[in-house]
Amino acid sequence: MRNENFIGNQWRASRSGATDNIVNPATGGIIGTAPASDAADVDDAVQAAAAAFPAWAAQTPRQRSEALHELARRIGDDIETLSAIESENVGKPVSIMEFEMDLTLDNWNFFASAGRFLEGRAAGEYMEGYTSMLRREPLGVVGSIAPWNYPLNMATWKVAPALAAGNTVVLKPSELTPYTALRLAELAADVLPPGVFNVVCGQGETAGVALVDHPEVAMVSLTGSVAAGQAVARASANTLKRVHLELGGKAPVVVFDDADPALVAAGVRVAGYYNSGQDCTAACRVIAGPKVYDALVAALHQEVTEIPFGDPTLPDTEVGPVVSAEQLARVAAMVQRATEAGAEVLTSAVAPDGGGYYFAPSIVVGPAQNSEIVQREVFGPVVTVQRAPDEETLLAWANGVDYGLAASVWTSDVGRAMRMAAGLRFGTVWVNDHIPIMSEMPHGGFKQSGYGKDMSIYAVEHYTELKHVMIKH
Ligand code: NAD
Repeated sequence: MRNENFIGNQWRASRSGATDNIVNPATGGIIGTAPASDAADVDDAVQAAAAAFPAWAAQTPRQRSEALHELARRIGDDIETLSAIESENVGKPVSIMEFEMDLTLDNWNFFASAGRFLEGRAAGEYMEGYTSMLRREPLGVVGSIAPWNYPLNMATWKVAPALAAGNTVVLKPSELTPYTALRLAELAADVLPPGVFNVVCGQGETAGVALVDHPEVAMVSLTGSVAAGQAVARASANTLKRVHLELGGKAPVVVFDDADPALVAAGVRVAGYYNSGQDCTAACRVIAGPKVYDALVAALHQEVTEIPFGDPTLPDTEVGPVVSAEQLARVAAMVQRATEAGAEVLTSAVAPDGGGYYFAPSIVVGPAQNSEIVQREVFGPVVTVQRAPDEETLLAWANGVDYGLAASVWTSDVGRAMRMAAGLRFGTVWVNDHIPIMSEMPHGGFKQSGYGKDMSIYAVEHYTELKHVMIKH
């Protein structure tokens, strides 16, 4: 497994020689190291990316598309290795890897083609004696910063549209989960010209900050927490670089009395506990009407009881560990505080023995709307359930958080579904389902969940600058 930075298509240790330990969350054991890079390493990578930019930007969309499709083909051929690395580094159950890798591969194929479909208004004589036309141009060097929950998939969402649009990229993966980004670099090494794609590992406060501060970085694209997004937005103000932020979520699951509680519970079992609930769109906040509430709590409790929980290497395991000891402590403390504040915690699973970071899939019943567990992201296998008296309260509570990434509404009344779809202040609203995503449709937040869209043609557009060219006749 590669454990060095990838700069200008060369493998390099950090200049200081410092490294971070990388841990398997299922055991707590160290599986390797990665460079603990600092500003000097980031500068090397940015210089390599800046040098590569003119030639990459000058390629035709078809040429870039062919290179990215070739990279996609190599990713496809490498899925087993990528899955194994990701599963070990994040503690993901092997049973959930297929979906994630299939989406990642499709994202690469989509973006490889999408760079050929940039749009603008028709050229024409909008002023007498002049012809106006629009160009969409790449920005330059893009700094991509990825989180640990879906390391390769989130890196893909940042890197692929930026490259497709003609930018060059310096990717900083999460300090906890760098290995699939380095594997991606290995696959790209003889497909992309030197410097087009670079990976620099390290901590947010050193390597991440250096990337955001670098004057030759034209744009920073971050997927991460609200706190990191705020820090990046603040720091980017100094150089006025463009910022693209995909931040946290607290997705409501709005359930009306005419919904089928068994269907909702089955949906929440998947969407609330997938990836140990470490998902920015996780169905983590159920708000139910008064008549369906009791049946829904019972059905959800039943589903959660049946979740195979534990060793992620076993083929049937549905929920494994959370990513780190710190994350485990955070989740446990939030649930403890919810209990102290009067909510009831339902769980039947028992965490496996050993050194892994396991938190049993749980339901927190009856927390207050203004309580911490309802207002803040838990990012663990924990779903809250609240009872609301009427449609107005359901909508008000659903919208009553700082986040605005994703929401779902469950009802058999089409008119009500449409009212809720319009009223919910979230970047995605599902009706009678929660979590399906595909490459063609945008993913992104309202409010403190950030700005800018991942996936879809809109993501590619974010990595371009619109230029008006006006020709006097
Ligand atoms: P995090 O904010 O701790 O770190 C994300 C990345 O940012 C890491 O690579 C980190 O090193 C870097 N970073 C942190 N502070 C930085 C700074 N000041 N300057 C530059 N870089 C910095 O997030 P995490 O714990 O890795 O990931 C979980 C978070 O990501 C959750 O809040 C989750 O909701 C969010 N997330 C959002 C989406 C989305 O699409 N909106 C998707 C996945 C995860």
